[in-house]
This record gives sequence, structure tokens and C-alpha cells, in this order.
Amino acid sequence: MDCIFCKIIQKEIKSEIIFEDDLTLCFKDLKPVSPVHLLIVPKIHITSLFEVDKNNSHYISKIFENIPKISMDICENGFRVVNNNGEDALQSVEHLHFHILGGRQLGWPPC
Ligand code: AMP
Ligand code: ZN
Repeated sequence: MDCIFCKIIQKEIKSEIIFEDDLTLCFKDLKPVSPVHLLIVPKIHITSLFEVDKNNSHYISKIFENIPKISMDICENGFRVVNNNGEDALQSVEHLHFHILGGRQLGWPPC
């Protein structure tokens, strides 16, 4: 499968890895939009949230268990978790991922 995040998980493509465990990988976004801009992904290919179900939801649960652990020290004033899901949300990489954004005051609402 030609998936860039699967290749990052397999270490076929280099990335700046911040955290890794059996189910998840967290690495720096290539084009950061804030001082802290990380991506956290499941270590299996799930295209988007539309594909999450009871068979793979333990990956999502682990992602959300890890996000505060990863972000607590580097985003002590807070952070935002973003998932662009599908075409209308402008999802550009079709491997489920959550952005962790922080290190500055973020605007709301997103446009
Ligand atoms: P999205 O628009 O929500 O699908 O976000 C995809 C994100 O993946 C963008 O913020 C990209 O900058 C990021 N991205 C794409 N390729 C890479 C890569 N090789 N390493 C790290 N981040 C990447
Ligand atoms: Zn993938």
C-alpha cells in the first residue's frame, strides 16, 4: 500500500519521532503551523475516522491515553487536538491522524 504514514511507521521514510509504543506513533509534522505541531497515528492502516469500529477502537483509545502524556510538558498552557476527517475537512493524508497543536495562542473557530 502506498501510504506515507505507513512508511513512516515502518521506518522506510524518516521522521522526527517523539514517542512510540506498541499501538501508536507520534512524530513532528513536516510543515508545522504552530511551534508545537505533532501528529499521532495508529500503527495500523486506518484510512479515517469513518473506518473506526469496535475492532480497532483500542488504537484510538491508546492515542488519547498518550496525547496528554506527550503534551503535558511541551504545551503546559494548553494544546488543541485536530482531526481532519474526509474530503470536506480537507484530509490530505489518508491514514488516520490527530494533529497536536500548541506553543502559541490558537484562533477559534477554524475556518
Ligand atoms: P491533514 O491535512 O489533516 O491530512 O494533515 C496531513 C499532515 O501531514 C499535514 O499537516 C502535513 O504537513 C503532514 N505530513 C505530510 N507528509 C508528512 C511527512 N512525511 N512527515 C511529517 N508530516 C507529514
Ligand atoms: Zn497507512
